[in-house]
Amino acid sequence: MISSVVVAGGGLSGLLAARYINKLVPTVDVRVFERRSRGNYRVDCGEGFIDFRGVLSRVISEVRPFIRSEVSESVWRFQYDGGTRNVRIEHDDFFWIIDRLGWQKKILKDIEGEVDVVFGEEVEIDDFSCDLVVDARGPSYKVGSAVYGVYEGSFDSVLGKAVFDYRERLDGYYWIFPMEEGRANIGYGGFGEDIGKKRLDSYVESLPLNIDSKKKSGGGYLDYTYYLKDVHGKKTGLIDRRDGGWIARVGDAAGIVNPLIGEGISGAVSTSYQLARAIKQNDLDKYPVWVKKENKHSISLSMARLRKKKYSRFVERFSKLDGVKASHCYSVPKFMFRHPIRSIKFLIA
Ligand SMILES: Cc1cc2nc3c(=O)[nH]c(=O)nc-3n(C[C@H](O)[C@H](O)[C@H](O)COP(=O)(O)OP(=O)(O)OC[C@H]3O[C@@H](n4cnc5c(N)ncnc54)[C@H](O)[C@@H]3O)c2cc1C
Repeated sequence: MISSVVVAGGGLSGLLAARYINKLVPTVDVRVFERRSRGNYRVDCGEGFIDFRGVLSRVISEVRPFIRSEVSESVWRFQYDGGTRNVRIEHDDFFWIIDRLGWQKKILKDIEGEVDVVFGEEVEIDDFSCDLVVDARGPSYKVGSAVYGVYEGSFDSVLGKAVFDYRERLDGYYWIFPMEEGRANIGYGGFGEDIGKKRLDSYVESLPLNIDSKKKSGGGYLDYTYYLKDVHGKKTGLIDRRDGGWIARVGDAAGIVNPLIGEGISGAVSTSYQLARAIKQNDLDKYPVWVKKENKHSISLSMARLRKKKYSRFVERFSKLDGVKASHCYSVPKFMFRHPIRSIKFLIA
């Protein structure tokens, strides 16, 4: 029986894990340690909340007040073989650009009082001997990185749309997420530790948009290893036993980020919730099983292999989604968003 939990990292996944554990098993003593000071608490993100994993209903009402804009259509641009393919997907389902820091601060406010949150404390997993240490410290492998800017200007041509732009061989992706009127979050992500600031700058310059100024910028690492954490020769999973207790990884620490678009918010929701469920059932071995089930259609590191050889085939297949409604992918055939991922697996198999 788990009675004491330490959460290392007070980002989205750490706060959600603390909250879900507290909610589902109120008898558990939960403490969160965040290395940033309270005053310096920040988030570097494109703030696009897209539900690849079907988890949005878990947080929908609490996220609603933090929606900056709703995306009704996403445009996926692929450059390949010297040409360009545009694939349009109609979002009759949820795809929001959110104020993520605002949301996190709200979760924080809600849990403080029930859960002890300590700011300004950088911790190591081995610092604690308790029933369960939750590693929510963000990317444990720097498989990828992303950089973004918040720009001011005129974004009328992309209002209500999200743009994903892929260059040769899927070695990275650019995004344009219109926020409130006159502002957009534009970023670049990819494989490797290269933050790619220069790439983003030249991308922004090349855009047919009237951009006046950059108001904010930032970046960070991404872990796309999914739960297959053996890419660097070291095998770790979502959960490990150790002397006197367990270690579980949630969010980016679990490598849950989708390498096609750098999406990890829904992965943070998925992992934190499933961990709390497993604690409630007093069966932590269920945690990896449930995460794998919920994320089974999400993308794996096979993307790295895909970009070497199969990019044009992937684009051909993805192009078949042109005009598809997003809700189709969330319902039974789970066709649309889940289709590219399945097709990757299919292509590679
Ligand atoms: C530039 C960029 C843009 C992105 N855009 C999107 C997007 O548009 N949509 C999307 O879905 N995802 C996006 N992502 C991915 C998304 O931000 C992550 O998946 C998400 O942050 C995962 O949350 P997390 O809590 O697991 O990790 P983090 O948000 O990284 O939180 C980890 C926390 O742990 C703290 N910490 C680290 N080490 C320690 C330590 N030793 N002791 C104590 N505390 C520690 C950190 O200070 C941090 O607060 C983006 C990522 C980047 C870098």
